[in-house]
Amino acid sequence: MKKLSFILLILIFALTSIAIASDNEIVVYSARKEHLIKELFEKYETEQGVKIKYITGKAAVLLQRVLSEGSSTDADILLTVDAGNLWHAAQKGILSPVNSPILEKNIPSHYKDPDNLWFGLSVRARTIVYNTDKVKKSDLTSYEDLAGDAWKDRLLLRTSKKVYNQSLIAMLIATLGEDKTKEVVKGWVNNLAAPPYSSDTKVLEAIAAGQGDVGVVNTYYYGRLMKKNPKLPLGIFWADQSGNGVHVNVSGAGVLKYSKNKEQAIQFLEWLSKEEAQKMFADANMEYPVNSAVEPHTYVKNWGTFKGSQMNLAKAGQLQTDAIKMMDMVGYK
Ligand code: FE
Repeated sequence: MKKLSFILLILIFALTSIAIASDNEIVVYSARKEHLIKELFEKYETEQGVKIKYITGKAAVLLQRVLSEGSSTDADILLTVDAGNLWHAAQKGILSPVNSPILEKNIPSHYKDPDNLWFGLSVRARTIVYNTDKVKKSDLTSYEDLAGDAWKDRLLLRTSKKVYNQSLIAMLIATLGEDKTKEVVKGWVNNLAAPPYSSDTKVLEAIAAGQGDVGVVNTYYYGRLMKKNPKLPLGIFWADQSGNGVHVNVSGAGVLKYSKNKEQAIQFLEWLSKEEAQKMFADANMEYPVNSAVEPHTYVKNWGTFKGSQMNLAKAGQLQTDAIKMMDMVGYK
């Protein structure tokens, strides 16, 4: 009898320690690259005593993985880039709404899902870059203006297959309307100095090399390239400052519907929205903190301040199919 109760005691102890272990661990599927999250995750582990396991991969692959794992998934959080991808995840029904006064307070409403399925955690600005030897700042105004005759054979763009451009066009449709946006994208294609490139960095390098004079990229790619080679003749121009403002997007996250540890997952997201984590999260990639109480890195701040679009980013997802169709129709490859 004594032996039996001893075994029982051991068993109870083992079971509770398993429960504690899983309670103190969250699993993140991250489309944000490892070097951008590792330090931050480690900080959370040390500070909060919660283990964070993560895998990294391409946004579409991770989404597919969550879908195929279904209710047996170990993942608690999907962390990904671009509102288009976040919207897509929400559409697939894999995210769980989170009602958190902390997230509500720290994240401006246009940077999160209207139904609280996902939350932006860093802001990226997709704006105009130009060759400083060939273009004067005063020659530039808006995204629409790049469709004009003045930019014939001078514009360089990244491929329309990239979600960043799909979101940009979707947001243009949301602000300018379908007809006007189509005219603009058609004008861009007409003005191309070379076929679209596979990456923002290639667009920047081509502009610096004089293959074109202007382009549209996310500013952190400009930051990375200029850090390596500060002498490149490249400048940032904040687009559309007397109109809707710069096209901004986010990297962000949502709690998964089948998370076994929602409470911890929400606490982690809340922590990510607070000042200290916001600073690290944005600075790691030369982005802007989503929490407006937090200043960007000095290096980023030196690019100047700008007015960003206030349109809710869910539109980037809602109008994504329209954007893709439109780009295809006007021959934007
Ligand atoms: Fe990127």
